[in-house]
Amino acid sequence: MKKNHYDVLIVGGGISGTALFYELAKYTSVSSLCLLEKYEALATLNSKGTSNSQTIHIGDIETNYTLEKAKVTKRTAKMVEKFCLQYDLQDKIMFSHQKMALGVGEKEVHFIENRYHEFKELFPYLELWDVEKLKELEPKIVYLDKAQTKVRPEPIVAMGTNTQYTTVDYGAMSEALSTHAQKASDIPTDIFYNTQVVDIFEKEDKTFEVHCKDGSIYTANFVVVNAGAHSLFLAHRMGYGKHMGCLPMAGSFYMTNEHFLNGKVYMVQNNKLPFAALHGDPDILAEGKTRFGPTALMLPKLERFKPGTYWDFFKTLNFDFHIVKIFWDLLKDSDIRNYVFKNFLFEVPLINKGLFVQDAKKIVPSLSVDDITYAKGFGGVRPQVLDKEKEKLMLGEASINSGNGIIFNMTPSPGATSCLGNAERDMREIVAHLGLDFDEEAFLADLTE
Ligand SMILES: Cc1cc2nc3c(=O)[nH]c(=O)nc-3n(C[C@H](O)[C@H](O)[C@H](O)COP(=O)(O)OP(=O)(O)OC[C@H]3O[C@@H](n4cnc5c(N)ncnc54)[C@H](O)[C@@H]3O)c2cc1C
Repeated sequence: MKKNHYDVLIVGGGISGTALFYELAKYTSVSSLCLLEKYEALATLNSKGTSNSQTIHIGDIETNYTLEKAKVTKRTAKMVEKFCLQYDLQDKIMFSHQKMALGVGEKEVHFIENRYHEFKELFPYLELWDVEKLKELEPKIVYLDKAQTKVRPEPIVAMGTNTQYTTVDYGAMSEALSTHAQKASDIPTDIFYNTQVVDIFEKEDKTFEVHCKDGSIYTANFVVVNAGAHSLFLAHRMGYGKHMGCLPMAGSFYMTNEHFLNGKVYMVQNNKLPFAALHGDPDILAEGKTRFGPTALMLPKLERFKPGTYWDFFKTLNFDFHIVKIFWDLLKDSDIRNYVFKNFLFEVPLINKGLFVQDAKKIVPSLSVDDITYAKGFGGVRPQVLDKEKEKLMLGEASINSGNGIIFNMTPSPGATSCLGNAERDMREIVAHLGLDFDEEAFLADLTE
């Protein structure tokens, strides 16, 4: 049994954990840092490039974001871009694609036009593309047939751009963050793999004792748990966040057999649903093939494509009559009921492709069942947090800050985009709590505009 003490200890080596590891190592006077990762490598779960949609969600084409929210997301999304540019990672792990939000039918066309005028001041590069322009930029969304002779009957319009960085392999970015953290500083920056944290204890001297499955014990002055849905699992074990439950929502994708779209095409979002609208885009890790998705299916486990975690799911759901009430209220709404049912059917072999194609045809009207296959091994799980006190879904990320030296973060989509922004929030808290120095000038110069 070994006993190691660190100034700050981070649990979880996805994009959230590595972003904090990087910011602390590079911009603060922290004296030692440790990252504990359950698996054999960084980012094997949701941050892995094939698990998520690889999008930098800045707020320009995300039709469920208000202008106020877009101002916030713009800053944090730009941090991802600035980090990648700083280390010359463009066209290696960060790419520039055309992207657009597509409105189909009178109502959505009006919506997109109004939104374009409202958002163009914040995002001056945005353009409004009519059907003629779309024939040039993204012809498959315009025509009803593969020969491209018949234009779809309903009106369409899109707001978009082809001048911005849009796409990141967040798995590779997690690696880059940890490498540059270790290069940036002479202090101990230790990463331990195959080290699953099972319990954390607060000691009387205000430090924390972190117990791992292999029997190892670490101590730290400050702990941040960035373990996805397991953050809430570990919080519950310490008595924190009991008013929250976690509903794991798996997202899967379908892949076309060949190149279909030139860039990202997002549909108008139904505001009642917490997830990004169905979209199609070139996959940077699948030889330029086009991916459609993601779907959304409740899964009774916390980790996709890994054995076990069914019991962890049950514990973290924190089931009681408040949860029943949340489900009941959600399922009372016919939009949500249909969405839940349809997404369940999207996973049922034999009928899934046909049903999915019906939805995806809103983007590419000529898409047929023969064009797509279920993308095996792609997709992840969004830890959707439920607020049991308010009896509703908590939209966006959830963070539990105990105020006494331990923070737990749960980061559903678009948590990868906000990794450096969330890390900044936690870094500032750690700096204040431990009385560290923070090179704010360098931080702002490197990572913000
Ligand atoms: C289908 C889908 C599409 C998405 N699309 C986008 C998108 O386009 N853009 C975007 O910004 N976001 C997107 N997201 C969200 C994004 O993937 C996540 O928000 C992000 O990856 C979360 O990163 P994380 O580091 O918090 O969690 P994870 O990547 O899940 O990492 C958690 C880490 O903690 C480790 N861990 C867990 N328990 C323990 C333990 N007990 N001890 C030690 N280590 C532990 C795990 O092994 C893992 O490495 C999408 C998500 C899904 C599922």
